[in-house]
Amino acid sequence: MNRLVLTMVLFCWTGWIQAQQVVVYPTNWWTGMKWNKLQVMVRGDKIAAMVPMVKMKPEGMELAPGVHLKQIKRVTNPNYIFFDIELAAHAKPGWITLPFAGKKGLKYELKPRRTGNGTAYAKGVTSEDLVYLIMPDRFSNGDESNDRVKGMRDQSLRRDTVFNRHGGDLKGVQNHLDYLQDLGVTAIWLNPVIENDMPERTEHGYAFTDHYKIERRIGGEEAYHALVDAAHAKGMKIIQDAVYNHIGTEHFLFKDQPDSGWFHRWPKFTQTSYKDQVVFDPYASAGDKKMMSDGWFVPSMPDWDQSNEMVQQFLIQHAIWTVEEFGIDGWRIDTYAYNDLPFMNRCNQALYDDFPKLTIFGETWVHGVPNQSYFCENNYEVPFKSNLQATTDFQTLFYGIQPALTQAFGWTDGVNKLYTTLAQDFLYKDPMRQVIFLDNHDIARFYSVVNEDTAKYKAAFAWLLTGRGIPQMYYGNEILMAGTTSPNDGYVRLDFPGGWKGDQQNKFTAAGRTAKENQVFDYIRKLANFRKSSSAIKTGKLMQFVPYDGVYVYFRYDAQQTVMCIMNTNDKSFTLGLSRFSERLAGFATGRDVVTGAGIPLKDSIGLQPMSNLVLELN
Ligand code: CA
Repeated sequence: MNRLVLTMVLFCWTGWIQAQQVVVYPTNWWTGMKWNKLQVMVRGDKIAAMVPMVKMKPEGMELAPGVHLKQIKRVTNPNYIFFDIELAAHAKPGWITLPFAGKKGLKYELKPRRTGNGTAYAKGVTSEDLVYLIMPDRFSNGDESNDRVKGMRDQSLRRDTVFNRHGGDLKGVQNHLDYLQDLGVTAIWLNPVIENDMPERTEHGYAFTDHYKIERRIGGEEAYHALVDAAHAKGMKIIQDAVYNHIGTEHFLFKDQPDSGWFHRWPKFTQTSYKDQVVFDPYASAGDKKMMSDGWFVPSMPDWDQSNEMVQQFLIQHAIWTVEEFGIDGWRIDTYAYNDLPFMNRCNQALYDDFPKLTIFGETWVHGVPNQSYFCENNYEVPFKSNLQATTDFQTLFYGIQPALTQAFGWTDGVNKLYTTLAQDFLYKDPMRQVIFLDNHDIARFYSVVNEDTAKYKAAFAWLLTGRGIPQMYYGNEILMAGTTSPNDGYVRLDFPGGWKGDQQNKFTAAGRTAKENQVFDYIRKLANFRKSSSAIKTGKLMQFVPYDGVYVYFRYDAQQTVMCIMNTNDKSFTLGLSRFSERLAGFATGRDVVTGAGIPLKDSIGLQPMSNLVLELN
C-alpha cells in the first residue's frame, strides 16, 4: 500500500484526525524469514492516540494463524507507535490488521519470499568477480525527466560544478551493462541509492533522509528494480552501499525523534576523532573510545545510538528488507569502524541467517593490517571477535601497490611494501574475501597517483586483476580518468564522458577514445576477461617470492593452471634469472603472455622491459 492510499484510508476511518502522511516501516514483511520478530513503526501526526490501549495476553493477540501481536510500544513522541509482531514458521502470506481506533484497523502485508535465495539473488560476490564502483549521479544520464524533482531541497543541476547534481541515474547504468560486461565486469557496486533529500552535496548519497525510498533523482524504486533485474538477467550482480553509522539531518527520524535515545547527543557538535586505534587499543581511555564511536561524522550526519534496541531493530529490518525487496547480492558497509561493533555483529548475523550466501564487506579506511583485520574475521585471540567477512583492503593500496609504483625500491620500500603487507595475510581468517582496489570515490584516482604514467598504471591493473581477493575498479579507470582530492573530493567524481546527451566525447566507444585510452582499455579488458576463465586467479592459491632488485614475482596456481606474474618496478630493463622460482616452474617449458599471446620460453632467464608487467599462463 502506498502512502497516498494509506492517508486516504486513515482519513476515512477517523473523523477527528486531519488528513496526513502516515509512514509504515518496514512497508511490508515476508513469511518464512529467520528474522521473525518484527517491529513495525507507524508514524503520523498524534498517531499514538489512534491506537487503543490493549491489555495483551502473554501469548499476544492473534492477528492470523501463526501471527501474533506481542506488544504495542509507545514512546515519548506521540507521532510514533510501534507494533511488535511475531511470525511462526507456519504463518501464511496475506494481509493482517493492526489495531487502530475506528472500524477497520491498519492493514499490513506479509508477502511470500522471492525464490532463488543464493542462486537467483543474494548470490554473494567472491574472488571470481570483478566489481565496478559507480557514483550514479556521475556515470550516465539515462532519464532526463528525473534530473530535478519538484519539492526536493537540492534543486541544483549544474555539470560545470563538482558539488551540484549532474543528472546521472540508474537508467544510465542499466544502459551500459553490455559495455561493462564486455569489459569483464561481473558485479556493480553503486554508491548509496537511498533518498538524500538534503539541501546540498547530495551527489554522494551518504546522508539518508528516508530509508525506505530510493532516491527519486536516480530513478526511484522502479529504476532500481529494473537495474537489478536487468543485471541479473545478464548474470551480473549488484552490491548495495549500506550506511548504519549516521543519517542526514533532514531525516524525519532526526527532525521528529521518537524519544531522546535514538541519537548520540552532545552539548555542542562533537566530531568523531576518526581514530580507529582506540577501538582495539588495550590502553585506550573511555573518553577516547566514546569520542571515536559516538562523535558525529560531520555536522549534517547525526550519529545513531546503536545501543538502543529500537534503533537496532529499525536498521536490521531495513537491511533485510532491502536485500529481499530488490534482490541484492552483496552488501558494502560504510564507515564500519565508527559503528557499535557488537551491534554490527548482530546485524551481519541477521543478514547471514536470512541470506546465507550474501557477501558483506566493510569500509575500513585505517592504517595497518592489524587495524584492518580487527574489524573482520581474523585469527586473533581478543575479547571482541568480528563476524564481518571482509573489508575494503586499504592496506594493499596504501602500503602495497601505491608505494610499489611511486617509491624507489629499498629494504622496506617500493615493491617490498606490497610483499610485506601480503605476508601479513596470516592475520585474516580469509584473505581471499578482501576487496582490493586502486581508488574509489573518496581518494585520488590512481592514474593521477602515478602521475599519468601508463606503464605504471598498467602494472597496477596487472596486479589488481591477478592479486588475491575480490578486485574492484572505479568507474572511468578504464579510460584513464584522472583527479585528486585537491582542491576537494568532487574532482575524483567527475562525469564519465559520453554519459550525457550532447557530450563532445563518448568514451564508451573505441572511436571516442584516444589511442592511449584504447591501449589501456584493451589491456584491462584483456586481463579482466582472461581472469573470468582462470581458475588459478579466481580460486587458486598465491605464492609470492621475496622481491630482489625491484622485481616482484608471484604465482597464482591450482591443480589445473599456473599463472606467473612479474612486476619490474625499475625504470630500466632487467634480466630475471628463473632458478629461484623452480618450486613453481618445475614441469613448465613456456609461458603464454596473456595480453599479447606471445610464447616465452622458460629457460634460464626472462628479459623484462623497464617498468613493466608480465602475466604468463604456464604450459
Ligand atoms: Ca537523470
